[in-house]
Amino acid sequence: MHAQSTGTDIGGPEGLDLFDELSEGEGAEAAGMPTAWDVNDSLSYIPGYDMYCHWNTDVIFDHSGTKGHFDHDTLRLQLGEHACDLNMPCPGGVTSGYGMRRGRMHYGVDLDLETGDTVRAAFPGMVRISKYNKTFGNVVVVRHYNGLETVYAHLSKRSVEPGDLVEGGGLLGLGGNTGRSYGSHLHFEVRFLDQPIDPALLFDLEHGSLRTLEYDLHKGSFARMAAAKVAAQRTQASRKFHTVRRGDTLSAISRRYGVRVSELCRINGISDRSTLSIGQRIRYN
Ligand SMILES: [Zn+2]
Repeated sequence: MHAQSTGTDIGGPEGLDLFDELSEGEGAEAAGMPTAWDVNDSLSYIPGYDMYCHWNTDVIFDHSGTKGHFDHDTLRLQLGEHACDLNMPCPGGVTSGYGMRRGRMHYGVDLDLETGDTVRAAFPGMVRISKYNKTFGNVVVVRHYNGLETVYAHLSKRSVEPGDLVEGGGLLGLGGNTGRSYGSHLHFEVRFLDQPIDPALLFDLEHGSLRTLEYDLHKGSFARMAAAKVAAQRTQASRKFHTVRRGDTLSAISRRYGVRVSELCRINGISDRSTLSIGQRIRYN
């Protein structure tokens, strides 16, 4: 998708057709240019500001201000004009879906990519977060005009700064394996008012298109997530751990709790040749 090229002295949503082209190769340079206005002077330019009442360029998800917005209301989100209005962030398929994963909640989907592959904005919007985070690695969060936010994590390189306007398909950075990540992939989340939504409810991720042009958000949209979260916390709470002491071996722990070494290795993600360190916690159920 190509936008008309123009100067940088544009403001907000009404400037949608006036984006600078961020073409491959020059993206970092173009995105590095200072924006011509200051977000603090122009809150009305910020996508969805009336819904969020905050624009935090440091905290990835601010749960405090936005909780409980859906107690009574149903909100119709306009996702696009056409099913093809979704721009897939990267061409790779889904390697891990939303939901429970190894006893923990996975709030997004993992999309396959190679380190260095371009990562693009799903929809037009404004970059709210571009920073390094211990969990997400290099992470970019874009706020869209319908109030959705999309999250792009584990990037090897970020090419945008908070306050940058991006078009759908605009370059955000390069894929990678930073933060808590094992192998190159893109962790992609969709949130509304800081609450994660299963991207598969809105998007046909396999074909890179929208499932629906309008999505009715209501309490139930988050119920599945809330239920899964409670289940995850229950699972977490019922886990039992052995703290490694001097002289402990996997086979000793195995005998003590009646759990096979192979099972201990599987649930702890270690090898049977792993050296145990004193104080290490080994899960045994
Ligand atoms: Zn993920």
